[in-house]
Amino acid sequence: MADALQVNQVRAGYGAINVLWDVSLTANPGELTAIIGPNGAGKTTLLRAIMGLLPLTAGTVALGAQRLDHMPTWRLAQRGIALIPEGRMLFDAMSVEENLLIGAFPRDQRRHALRRLDAAYAMFPKLRERRRQLAGSLSGGEAQMLVLARGLMADPKVLLVDEPSLGLAPVVVDELFGILAHLRQEGLTIVLVEQHTERAVAIADHVHLMQSGKVVLSQRAADVCLAQLHEQYFGLA
Ligand code: ATP
Repeated sequence: MADALQVNQVRAGYGAINVLWDVSLTANPGELTAIIGPNGAGKTTLLRAIMGLLPLTAGTVALGAQRLDHMPTWRLAQRGIALIPEGRMLFDAMSVEENLLIGAFPRDQRRHALRRLDAAYAMFPKLRERRRQLAGSLSGGEAQMLVLARGLMADPKVLLVDEPSLGLAPVVVDELFGILAHLRQEGLTIVLVEQHTERAVAIADHVHLMQSGKVVLSQRAADVCLAQLHEQYFGLA
């Protein structure tokens, strides 16, 4: 049985500016945990804090019994945590395939990396078609698929995904969410930051609403009442 990712009473921010105020949540293994909330609520900051890209000023992050806070980001990556950042950071002047191979760990043997590459192409057939094409010439949707596929090359246990649908056409968002649902089905633990509330709730097991650096609502997705959530989301409650 895989381990739960536990965020406990976390505070973090940028220099003197504190953004996260005692954030606690659990991402159960094999489940999709959605974090929703308005712009500036601190969702990206939370993912960065989990990934060790920001120092915590209070609280802990753990995967099962193992503490992750104070671990360098590369070690978290080795432990099977992958962050798919917002903004599709790709190596534009390199091919699709080269971008994918960068996602495999150097400790992996070539054979293993090539097996992962095959699995990535099986999940994203369009990337196979375009494997020699420069990443910089991909469409927005293809680029997002490539960023996701690159994150999967390291065979992570926990996937942190930041706003993957940003700027994508609805049909591409459908495809992307289908892939996330499939990954969850395969047992991956996923933490998804998303502004499309309804879509996120539709594929999530648990939903956490953030506002002003705090988790203000945590519910099982099955119990979420969208109307109520919207009221709270827009501060009308
Ligand atoms: P969005 O959906 O717009 O990305 P978010 O919920 O992910 O919003 P964050 O990006 O985590 O929110 O931002 C939370 C707060 O932290 C905001 O007030 C933002 O201005 C601030 N912030 C983000 N990055 C930095 C930074 N590098 N330096 C200082 N403040 C920052």
